[in-house]
Amino acid sequence: MPEQRRVYYITTSIPYVNAKPHVGHALEFVQTDAYARFRRQQGDDVYFLSGSDENSLTNVLAAEAEGISTRELVDRNVEYFQLALEVLDCSNDAFIRTSVEERHFEGASKLWRAMDANGDIYTKQYSGLYCVRCEQFYNEDELIDGLCPDHRIPVELVEEENYFFRLSKYQDELHRLISTDEMKVTPDSRKNEVLRFIERGLEDFSISRSHERARGWGVPVPSDDSQVMYVWVDALSNYITALDYASDGELYDRYWTGADERVHEIGKNIVRFHAIYWPAMLLSAGVPLPTHIVVHGFLTIDGERMSKTRGNVFDPVEVVDDYGGDAVRYYLLREISPHGDGDFSFGRLIERYNADLANDLGNLLNRSVTMINRYRDGVVPEPGDSTGLETELAATLERSIERSTELFKTYEPQQALASIWESVTATNTYIEQSQPWVLAREARNGDEAAQKRLDTVLATLAVTIGRLAQLLQPVIPSSADEIARQLGSPSVDDLPVPGQQVTDPTPIFPRIEVEEEIAVD
Ligand SMILES: [Zn+2]
Repeated sequence: MPEQRRVYYITTSIPYVNAKPHVGHALEFVQTDAYARFRRQQGDDVYFLSGSDENSLTNVLAAEAEGISTRELVDRNVEYFQLALEVLDCSNDAFIRTSVEERHFEGASKLWRAMDANGDIYTKQYSGLYCVRCEQFYNEDELIDGLCPDHRIPVELVEEENYFFRLSKYQDELHRLISTDEMKVTPDSRKNEVLRFIERGLEDFSISRSHERARGWGVPVPSDDSQVMYVWVDALSNYITALDYASDGELYDRYWTGADERVHEIGKNIVRFHAIYWPAMLLSAGVPLPTHIVVHGFLTIDGERMSKTRGNVFDPVEVVDDYGGDAVRYYLLREISPHGDGDFSFGRLIERYNADLANDLGNLLNRSVTMINRYRDGVVPEPGDSTGLETELAATLERSIERSTELFKTYEPQQALASIWESVTATNTYIEQSQPWVLAREARNGDEAAQKRLDTVLATLAVTIGRLAQLLQPVIPSSADEIARQLGSPSVDDLPVPGQQVTDPTPIFPRIEVEEEIAVD
């Protein structure tokens, strides 16, 4: 029986579009894209979704501050996010815009009605301290100097009659699902944080706000147009509305109910909503839950918190303009811890680029293609017998393949790259040890054995580099394609074969020159 393809669904969170994207968004986009590309490479049937949270009050307020309509603001800003995904070479299959798409409005309403039909929605007078940027109520003791702990802005006392969702009813079930890993939360520190939060007791939460406070912007509550859906029902439902949950569409059958894995890649500030609110809503509506919530941390910039006043909020599109998409992707995945907080440093980006990409990988390709051109007229030779050097290199490569496959599957791209780099280094060492330039000299002097040996070394280099390009493809897709092209392969999926013609060598990662600081005694 043929093996069934695994079906894998992965999403980014949907950011507010109240401002341009920053490098934190770039991190999440690039991580999610690398996971999606890796799974496709493994032969999985993959669907990768990104999108924008356009109905939030944050967007309404940003538009008011600029003196333009909310529609104008979201239409303008969403393009910055779509452009960031594009320049970062993200392979998302779809991008859902929650304020414009009928399928989203209909799907969010369907989810609401399903929860209501299950007896989990009721009305209650509510008053609380609310941060408009977080779209979240806070207890007095959670505030710092009376300000939102996250945004450091004043909170508002909000009083109104709202619809509430019976979250408390799902407390035990959620605890069981998370503690047994039936719904995984990665890393463990976040899982434990969620479990502790549940153990303190879950309270029902507000899922609507007045039409007036929402300035008429958002998804109307079914059968009550004095209220619009509060951000979480609306925003979180994007993960299924984009798959045509409203119409029980083909995408929904295939990538939600029928998927082997349903994965959300999110930031640490929204764990509670994804690991508690969202699965509770789905349990209520009788919809399958996500199988895995993968959480990343926050970035500082050169050691400082990102902030507009510090002027250190960088548009990823500009960073890509300066350094290239693959350089930024590589840096974010190789340097930044995938689940902890990290620091984005331009100095480190340049160091990583020069050391790893320009030096280790770029030179490896360049030297190898140059030698195949010089010694074999650009034709990949038929290899002769292997020696211990080839066996050793093959074993290192095999280990990198096994380990990096496992590490990508467990959302550890940083370690996966470290493992792949052992083979990049080993291949450079292989060149030093096998000394093809010496073999070429001996071959020119009529040494047949050296001639044959040189064939083996050059063929081994071509195939090994081709394999490295495949391993790196989820992280640096366009460079992987370029490596394959220079090796003369039809695509990165094809390993070099004897007889194929390599191209002229062209540096794929030209060194970034930095002005040396002058040392002063
Ligand atoms: Zn806040």
